[in-house]
Amino acid sequence: MMNTKVYVGIDLGGTKILAVILDENGVTLNKAETSTNAHEGAEPVIQRMIELIKTCLEPEHQLASIGVATAGTLNSKEGIVATASNLGWDQVPLGKRLGQEFGVPVNLENDANAAAYGEWAVGAGRGTQNCVYITASTGIGSGIISGGKLIRGRDSSAGELGHITIDMNGPRCLCGNIGCLELYASGTSIGRRAQELASQFPEKAAVLLEKAGGSAITSRHVAEAAALGDEVSAQAIEEAGKALGNGLVSIIHIMNPEVIVLGGGAASIGAPLLEPMKQVIAERGIYSLTNGVRIVSPTLGKEAGAIGAALLVAE
Ligand SMILES: [Zn+2]
Repeated sequence: MMNTKVYVGIDLGGTKILAVILDENGVTLNKAETSTNAHEGAEPVIQRMIELIKTCLEPEHQLASIGVATAGTLNSKEGIVATASNLGWDQVPLGKRLGQEFGVPVNLENDANAAAYGEWAVGAGRGTQNCVYITASTGIGSGIISGGKLIRGRDSSAGELGHITIDMNGPRCLCGNIGCLELYASGTSIGRRAQELASQFPEKAAVLLEKAGGSAITSRHVAEAAALGDEVSAQAIEEAGKALGNGLVSIIHIMNPEVIVLGGGAASIGAPLLEPMKQVIAERGIYSLTNGVRIVSPTLGKEAGAIGAALLVAE
């Protein structure tokens, strides 16, 4: 039997664990997912990860490495998840445990950075050297590839574009900073802003209020109502688009990217968000830098983080 060298990538999330098996060309051979059940504690979660990897491996697979994408603060060098509030983890030696089990190198990576790397290497950013990845949904996640390298920073925490200030007199963010991009352009913030406007101008939010039906307004309600001509919803989306444009101007000025991969629930609203965003970039950005930057949608879906984690350690 011919042996196939394979690379495992895991996306360890608060609700799901997703595993992919890649070959040497970055092609996905197998994938599987299971519930995290983080409340059971770290050890059962690690056991589930081990089982998940085993179910994905075929007899002819020769495992070369394991990459894990996860939220939280990491000590990548020691393979330790220092703190992950979504898992309730504190100083968990995940790299060591997986390494002992499978006898291969294990690398831990920030989840957004891993997704950025995956989209750059085999997704929407493929073929470029300079790529910025942003996903705007509940929050804003992002990662930067410059000169063909993932920018990791000191602790694999670089690329927090959601927490750059776009209003120095704005409200305080959970991160401690003031007026962060995430407060204006995430899905959560679109819902919150629409709620605010709807309380002020209920006569302009009839469709939105009907969509929400008394429950908390989400970005999905806002997108649906805007498509039906709801004024408040259109305004909330336009404001988010402009905020995103402001953030992207700074990112483009700093990184001089060829491509920006922009995804997530907020981005999927489409033209009503993207047009005001592009207008701000065109009006405010330095032309020689903004001119020719492609803004594209991601192509790897929810597997981007797992694929990126596998490729980063294979690298
Ligand atoms: Zn922040």
